[in-house]
Amino acid sequence: MKKRIALIAHDKKKDDMVALAAEYEKFLRQCLLLATGTTGKRLSDEVGLTVERMHSGPFGGDLQIGAQLVEGKVDCVIFLRDPMTPQPHEPDINALVRSCDVHNVPCATNVSSARLLLSQLEQTQ
Ligand code: PGA
Repeated sequence: MKKRIALIAHDKKKDDMVALAAEYEKFLRQCLLLATGTTGKRLSDEVGLTVERMHSGPFGGDLQIGAQLVEGKVDCVIFLRDPMTPQPHEPDINALVRSCDVHNVPCATNVSSARLLLSQLEQTQ
């Protein structure tokens, strides 16, 4: 069964997300990917991944991903948050991370933890 992985990066973390996705490209190609709008566009344009794109984060994309997660349709979340910049959609961000905790879905919020998570999933697929 293909893993469904959600990918989200705040603006200052988008380069990191592109680099991470390039690093794990081979594995990610075997997964079903969903992402917030701009993150998904960059992953598609720059890494060539097929990504189901939601709305942009500030316009509800995090909530769309959260809704799928609540329905059991997301196996893992890579959410590269920017801890240094206030975000207008902070409540949405918190709701998504909270939903991960409520439903016990693994959520990596920085590159180091994302690498651990993706490496583990890659080994156990
Ligand atoms: P984006 O959304 O990928 O559409 O930029 C993520 C965010 O900034 O919350």
